[in-house]
Amino acid sequence: MTGTIPYCDATTCVTAGCTPTVCRGLGIPSNQGIFDRSARAIPGGVNSSIRAFKSVGGTPYIVSRAEGARVWDVEGRELLDLVQSYGAIILGHAHPKVTEAIRAAAGDGTSYGAPTPREMKLAEAIGERVPSCERVRFMNSGTEATSTAVRLARGATGRKRIVTFNGNFHGATDALLAAGGSGLATLGLPGTAGVPEEAVANTWVLPYNVVPVLDNDVAAVFVEPVAANMGVVAPAPGFLEGLRAECDRVGALLVFDEVITGFRLGLGGAQAKYDVRPDLTCFGKVIGGGLPIGAVGGRRDIMENLTPLGSVFHAGTLAGNPLATAAGLAALNELNGDVYMELLARARHLSALLRDACASNGIHAQFPVVGTLVGMHFGDALTEAPSNFDEAKTTDEKLYAQVFHAMLNAGVAMAPGAYEALFVGLAHTDDVMEELAHRSSVALGGLRS
Ligand SMILES: *Cc1c(COP(=O)(O)O)cnc(C)c1O
Repeated sequence: MTGTIPYCDATTCVTAGCTPTVCRGLGIPSNQGIFDRSARAIPGGVNSSIRAFKSVGGTPYIVSRAEGARVWDVEGRELLDLVQSYGAIILGHAHPKVTEAIRAAAGDGTSYGAPTPREMKLAEAIGERVPSCERVRFMNSGTEATSTAVRLARGATGRKRIVTFNGNFHGATDALLAAGGSGLATLGLPGTAGVPEEAVANTWVLPYNVVPVLDNDVAAVFVEPVAANMGVVAPAPGFLEGLRAECDRVGALLVFDEVITGFRLGLGGAQAKYDVRPDLTCFGKVIGGGLPIGAVGGRRDIMENLTPLGSVFHAGTLAGNPLATAAGLAALNELNGDVYMELLARARHLSALLRDACASNGIHAQFPVVGTLVGMHFGDALTEAPSNFDEAKTTDEKLYAQVFHAMLNAGVAMAPGAYEALFVGLAHTDDVMEELAHRSSVALGGLRS
């Protein structure tokens, strides 16, 4: 190892005997070394479980830096990135406008415990683009957004019951971490240790893409309007409209979890694409430009149940954070109709190139495209793209693990789990797409032999 890798900061390397080319002062310039050392300080070495590679096996690549469509690991290896922070990044990593906005904001202080103009501007920007969001409240993650929406829906309606759909993901919120059974409608069971039955006793988990019959115990229906955490599953025609009508019939609130789809499918999110107006919308990911953020937006009369106007408590020391709102505003400023047309084309291109690379090497796989989102399903269990969780679960996880590692070895980073989406953004230019096609065919050709 030599000093040719430009991002090494030799001056910060203090560990005796270290070759300070790529370790940035850590003294352990290998993925394995850093992962092992992390695991002595952090449970499992990660701060979000999927990053540990448990479902695909092997050692995670530890990211040193990223730019545009590329990430570099601590060993100096470059990867074309289809993870893009699980969709939080849409302009590409370290986009100059976002980086500059963060830098400028940081110089003014990073958190005050008082209102700021940027929160106002970001709330206005969201409200202008997503008309159902007459009021917007910020928090620090998508998880906080969904947990706030649960409390708000219950507080506003005076009801307890929450309805969710099997295979939808709403973050690490106890009331929404319910597991459904297979097929028929089931009462929620705790989806993880640590969630008592009582916490999900009022959560029903129903099959996706079937409009349920509700009763007037239901406070809210939470749905991913395009499901993007079981591969990518489109709403069946009439599903979202049917939910709207059924919620209206029983006086329940319709909550769209647009943490992934918001500002990813288009400026108006899934609600604009499918022309269904929810009562509340949860946001995260893109609206923070890669910094921690979450938001709940919605009807004024419902939103005004939040404290200080109403009686549903919400607070956050860092909520409406100056850096996160600066980055989010910078990101939203770059997004317009033309950008989404471009992203649509790239999503189709990605799907096609992966399909071709699989097909020409005898690998059965589907890469369904819903707007700018690309999903994946491996194996030959289905002839059409999955439409619910039972179908999504037929994916061949072992085959995916092989594909994942072949792609990684050829320099393409996909999510280390068979149920994630693939993300393209503004940085996935024609050149990048060409390189992706090349690396994919090398990767999957190698898998065949
Ligand atoms: C990522 C995600 C969340 C959770 O957001 P975090 O910021 O990770 O807490 C919630 N809902 C959906 C649909 C998501 O994709």
